[in-house]
Amino acid sequence: MYSIMIAPGRYVQGPGVLDKIGDHIRHLGDKVFFIGGPTAIEIVKQKAGENLKENEMKFHFEPFTGECTRASAAALTEKAKSFGAQVIVGTGGGRTIDTAKAVSHELACFLVIAPTVASNDAPCSALSVQYDENHMLDRFLILRRNPDVVLVDSRVIVQAPTRYFVAGMGDALATWFEAFTCTKSMAKNLPGGVSTAAALNLARLCFDTLMEYGVSAKLAVDDNALTPAVERVIEANTLLSGLGFESSGLAAAHGIHEGLHVLEGAGDKLHGELVAFGTLAQMVFENYDRKEIDRVLTFCHDVGLPVTLEHLGVKDASPEKILKAAEVSCMEGLTTHNSYLEINPERILGAILGANALGKAFLKSLEA
Ligand SMILES: [Zn+2]
Repeated sequence: MYSIMIAPGRYVQGPGVLDKIGDHIRHLGDKVFFIGGPTAIEIVKQKAGENLKENEMKFHFEPFTGECTRASAAALTEKAKSFGAQVIVGTGGGRTIDTAKAVSHELACFLVIAPTVASNDAPCSALSVQYDENHMLDRFLILRRNPDVVLVDSRVIVQAPTRYFVAGMGDALATWFEAFTCTKSMAKNLPGGVSTAAALNLARLCFDTLMEYGVSAKLAVDDNALTPAVERVIEANTLLSGLGFESSGLAAAHGIHEGLHVLEGAGDKLHGELVAFGTLAQMVFENYDRKEIDRVLTFCHDVGLPVTLEHLGVKDASPEKILKAAEVSCMEGLTTHNSYLEINPERILGAILGANALGKAFLKSLEA
């Protein structure tokens, strides 16, 4: 078994990055095919158009609203091919980014990711998560290599609704706990090796950054203010969490998120909101001491991440109902199995209900 670490070719973050997009990606080719949600496409079009022209690049903007499925990726691949794309730029949120990744993989061309929200850690990784038409997990597509360039315009990120920024912290919150579990269990990371000290320490830095700057960054984003704390958290949500999860590994928090997703009422919750609660459940499962759990509960509460099933929109938290989530969390192929502990639905059910109980008690203690 080898230690393996992978990373994007270049990571650029700061205010106004998108205004200079041509300068940052010109070295990859001059025919650029943009794929993004309608809002993201509008933002990028406005900011990037002039600089792309200055760099004498040909470009096409393709709005995309669907789910990341094999069919949607195939349709976009055809369009990009007929345009003669040398570079695919994925812009927007997680779904469009994953779709753009799949298209660049099919075409074996360069890939640039320009997120307009810091809601998840997809931008830096070589992973594209594809779903089927019924919104069920289809497959984990592993790209030949990570994105060639990742461009994060922090001026754009702070204009997006706070909920996305906070969800990104939820996704990033899991990184350290999952990385630590995978190191303990020697679970394979995404490139098929085990973690390096570098990746594990980036995961830890991710967690420490959230603890240090998370609350002040959230308050700043509420007022669309770009502060150094916001820059640090954007980096944690996007770069540190991305490198940490990919080169150390995912575990129960993400596996349980897949289970929570199927519960009645929780379907419209963002990835990071479910992962945040999944992190609490993983901590209960691994029997972290109360002080550590309270620290994470306090953080979640202070930034507005869910700490109970009710926060996730789940009205009926009876064991009979939650068992369904526990069963899905234990499905073969999910990262729950990266644990060093025995995995079965009964144990995961206990973790979810246990986390819910601690969350409820925590909220009650605030009333007192
Ligand atoms: Zn995630």
